[in-house]
Amino acid sequence: MPDSKFTIVHTDSQTQARIGKLRTAHGVINTPIFMPVGTRGTVKTCSPHDLVQIGAEIILGNTYHLYLRPGHRVVEQAGGLHKFTAWKKPMLTDSGGFQVFSLGPLRTIAEEGVEFRSEIDGSKHFISPERSIEIQNALGADIIMIFDECPPLPSDYSYLKQSMEMTLRWAERCKKAHRNRNQQLFGIVQGGMEKSLRKISVERTAEIGFPGYAIGGLSVGEEKPLMYETLAYTAPLLPKDSPHYLMGVGTPEDLVYGVSCGVDMFDCVMPTRNARNGSLFTTLGTIKMRNAKYKTDFTPLDPNCICHTCQNFTRAYLRHLHLENEILAHRLLTLHNLHFYLSLMRGIRRAIGEGTFSRLMADIGALVQLGQDQEKKETASGNTITEGRDSRNLASKLSQDTSNRKRRRERI
Ligand SMILES: [Zn+2]
Repeated sequence: MPDSKFTIVHTDSQTQARIGKLRTAHGVINTPIFMPVGTRGTVKTCSPHDLVQIGAEIILGNTYHLYLRPGHRVVEQAGGLHKFTAWKKPMLTDSGGFQVFSLGPLRTIAEEGVEFRSEIDGSKHFISPERSIEIQNALGADIIMIFDECPPLPSDYSYLKQSMEMTLRWAERCKKAHRNRNQQLFGIVQGGMEKSLRKISVERTAEIGFPGYAIGGLSVGEEKPLMYETLAYTAPLLPKDSPHYLMGVGTPEDLVYGVSCGVDMFDCVMPTRNARNGSLFTTLGTIKMRNAKYKTDFTPLDPNCICHTCQNFTRAYLRHLHLENEILAHRLLTLHNLHFYLSLMRGIRRAIGEGTFSRLMADIGALVQLGQDQEKKETASGNTITEGRDSRNLASKLSQDTSNRKRRRERI
């Protein structure tokens, strides 16, 4: 079994939730964690400095996109993804499998690998498990993923079975091809919504042995109750001592549910993409920035939020920027939505530690609030998770704000 760099700090007594620490070559991350998605080497509209300020501990890069442009050899020549992008904390790259399989008619799957045409210029490419690892080794993220097939929905049992078995063979090939000891290669469990296949997939992926395990193939169009059922069945089967990563999921509710099933790591484009579309997560519910009722609403986006956007700008101004498609709208709204997700995860960690997670599970707003209280506490004590922030001024301002402000729970 590969040496695990994961330590479980505390396990919840009511659910499968746990808090842990995962050591990587670029620092330790606290789990459960949300990883903002930086598809093409950037979390859209955010600089690394912005991300550090809102408390991001690890971000994602996308192998498929970076391979096509600028090319993994360019990134390697720059000294790897960290140097190329100026992000100094941990990074994870996916294997490119999900994007390649999403190309539909532009790709051909075989045992050896997948041939596809670039959506940019139509050029022909071939990615095999070995090639995916070679590209990810060159990119140099701290955590990399095996090349797997994510079967489309609906797929019949026999296709799902064949696909899952091919992914297992690919997992072995990836492990064999993996060269860089500074990178942790995670396995991926597939099997669609078929419990029997998920069970085999978990057992055989664990037999191959990886320092971490991901659940792939969920949130690909299935009904939510079925997704939850498959997740609740699969996650507890994963090796307990290893980190569990749920790929590409999801809403704040999905994250809380995932944590209760024992998931430690999440990624999703939802907070960033929704922000650019003017859909905002707040402690009072979801806000659609376009709504005419915000035209002369000079209150903060979320009165309970301590992010830069909510501390400085009004709904009326943000709505105006959004309707004018100003770049600043994308940036300010992205910062808020990411801060919301990161606060939620911080709140979840604290609730697990304090034994209140199962009680607070149904109350997203309360968990976010708890996360923000924790952020304020850490900032005030100087144990800052951020760099370069004027922490003491902010902390004293925030404590005044909080004392003047009762948390509101009205619907928007
Ligand atoms: Zn905010």
